[in-house]
Amino acid sequence: MLDLDKLRALQADALGGQPLDVLIVGGGIVGAGVARDAALRGLRAGLVEQQDLASGTSSRTSRLLHGGLRYLAQGRLGLVYEASREKRILYHIAPHLAEPLAFVFPTYRGSGWPHWKLRAGVKIYDLLCGGQNLGPSSSLTADELRRQLPQPKSQGLTGGVRYFDALTNDARLVLDTLRSASRQGALVANYTRLEEARPAGPGWQCTVRDVLAERSYEVAARCVVHAAGPWAQRLPQSSIRLRLTKGVHLVVERRRLPIADAVVMARGSRILFAIPWRERVILGTTDTDYQGPIEALRTEPADVDYILDAANDAFPSAAIDRTDVVSTWAGLRPLIAAGRGGPSDISRAHLIRCSRPGWIDVAGGKLTTYRLIAQQVVDQVIRHLGRPPVACLTARLPLLEEREVAGLSGIGPPEITEKIVEHYCREEWAVHLDDVMVRRTGWHFYYRDRRPIAEQAANWMAEILGWDQSRRDAELARWQEQVH
Ligand SMILES: Cc1cc2nc3c(=O)[nH]c(=O)nc-3n(C[C@H](O)[C@H](O)[C@H](O)COP(=O)(O)OP(=O)(O)OC[C@H]3O[C@@H](n4cnc5c(N)ncnc54)[C@H](O)[C@@H]3O)c2cc1C
Repeated sequence: MLDLDKLRALQADALGGQPLDVLIVGGGIVGAGVARDAALRGLRAGLVEQQDLASGTSSRTSRLLHGGLRYLAQGRLGLVYEASREKRILYHIAPHLAEPLAFVFPTYRGSGWPHWKLRAGVKIYDLLCGGQNLGPSSSLTADELRRQLPQPKSQGLTGGVRYFDALTNDARLVLDTLRSASRQGALVANYTRLEEARPAGPGWQCTVRDVLAERSYEVAARCVVHAAGPWAQRLPQSSIRLRLTKGVHLVVERRRLPIADAVVMARGSRILFAIPWRERVILGTTDTDYQGPIEALRTEPADVDYILDAANDAFPSAAIDRTDVVSTWAGLRPLIAAGRGGPSDISRAHLIRCSRPGWIDVAGGKLTTYRLIAQQVVDQVIRHLGRPPVACLTARLPLLEEREVAGLSGIGPPEITEKIVEHYCREEWAVHLDDVMVRRTGWHFYYRDRRPIAEQAANWMAEILGWDQSRRDAELARWQEQVH
């Protein structure tokens, strides 16, 4: 049996012991990337995450590693180039989490996405990948497109294009990055919130709270990297101003929409995707301003209807309705506030700002560009520490060794076994049932009939973590409350 109390006490001793070179606040993809890069460059790094690792935006994405064809249409060539390059790097360092995926984009007469423009666009897209995209783009006639897709809307169809990006598993990318960081010596503490930070001597004195053990302790660090995603404006030290936009995804059975490739569905100037995910299809996303409390974010019926309308417009004979929805998730884009414009017009570029000595705010960006963001942040940390420059290795070193990947992690959900649940508890910081059901495995999103799976997983976790019956029941209730 795992003694969690003892493990967390040891964790607190390690974090609160010798001062850190860098304390990272936030266990999303950005924080995880910074922790790994910092540890690989020999820094004493610690990371605190207030909830579960990857429980913020980084487990609520479209799961794409992409340059962003839409950003190309907006003329943001630099962003597309940067993201395209990173897409290829991730394909090399983490092939288990970067599966090449073809996208078909049908074009219609009178729409804002004319065929000639897209034909040129996908060629530029390939070029921005250094001519080495994950597959070659092509132009499709209307007949070819009809052969490619199951009964697309045919009125006004002029053809389409096909191009390549990659499918990933967002939460798994965070967890695998942190497993690697931890192997390199980074200290990782989930369910540990940064509550207060004060300048002290050459660095910062931070009060963190272990919300499981209900105890606070002090952590000293020369530098703080504040990578809090949508929460980035909460701390008084933060210089970040965000505009949060909400994005919802739905999962339906693939037999309801039997697509071989991903499909781009245009709605005015916006585009949505239908993304094949093993025997399911992910449909999304919405993009609407969000002003409510972050913790109250949820999928609303209007979000579901908007996405279903887009899917049924693209595939009228599919007639997908609310009863077809297996699961949903909603996320917040932590976009840098700048000017007005519609939610989809706001830049997805990232911002790194050293607002006070040793305090680095980082926000914005994309899952796809996290490695580059981390590299730039750690360069700044090393400069602040006055250390000689150390080469960044993350563009070359595999994320995990092959043996560490086998059977445990990937794009689809893993097998439902006790062994795998035990692995998540022992090696991947899982302490609650929803940590396993939602972030570690995605079983919650993949299976419609998930209650028996959750009960089975709860029984296994009870044995591994020593839960009694009432704790087991409380965990099932917590899982329901967190995700329904
Ligand atoms: C709907 C949607 C779809 C998207 N699709 C894609 C896509 O397909 N491809 C792509 O490249 N990008 C995509 N993105 C963008 C991408 O998801 C984000 O850029 C990225 O996940 C942001 O990561 P982050 O680490 O900054 O934030 P988060 O993942 O939110 O991490 C921040 C973490 O900080 C923690 N935290 C906050 N305050 C504290 C504190 N005081 N103490 C300790 N911890 C704290 C939070 O709990 C949170 O876990 C999408 C975003 C959305 C919303």
